[in-house]
Amino acid sequence: MELVGNSLCLDFANTVSKRPGGRDQLATMEGLLTWAQVAGIHPPDAFVDVGGVALNDAIELRESVYRTFSAIAAQRHPDSDDVSAMMSTYATALRSASLHREGDGHVPRWPGERSARAVLWPVAASAARLLLEGPLNRVGECPSCGWLFLDTTRNGSRRWCSMAMCGSQVKSRRYYAAKTAHRGS
Ligand SMILES: [Zn+2]
Repeated sequence: MELVGNSLCLDFANTVSKRPGGRDQLATMEGLLTWAQVAGIHPPDAFVDVGGVALNDAIELRESVYRTFSAIAAQRHPDSDDVSAMMSTYATALRSASLHREGDGHVPRWPGERSARAVLWPVAASAARLLLEGPLNRVGECPSCGWLFLDTTRNGSRRWCSMAMCGSQVKSRRYYAAKTAHRGS
């Protein structure tokens, strides 16, 4: 499980190994909680209520996040149903949040939350913040696997989820294709 998104909500969208049809980290509640731990949200044993509803909610939120930022990466307008689904989860999250000082502002946190649904709160907060404040012109999608990322390179040149996972594979495929074509001519 790799976190390459530079943004919590984009890392959440990347819990499918490849789009379409990749392995789904959120296929089980254990997978969701392991991701939450790796992403630094909560240790898995923080939750007492791990009902199946949270898993469906998680997948619905993830797909809304994916479609929204995939559209933005392609410089299209996101679907309004997806945006309102994310914002409504964020609104629910804010009702039980407490604010913590971070840098020059505040971030919402949920220290006492005992339901696995709370894994979704920081994800929704991250999505809302990215959508409202950007930088949206830095949102990109890997052309090989569909993972989303925030491009933090100085000149905005990032193209792949990671060079190791997709960039070098595609480049070597192209290299051999070019070599074969050259030999054939
Ligand atoms: Zn990729």
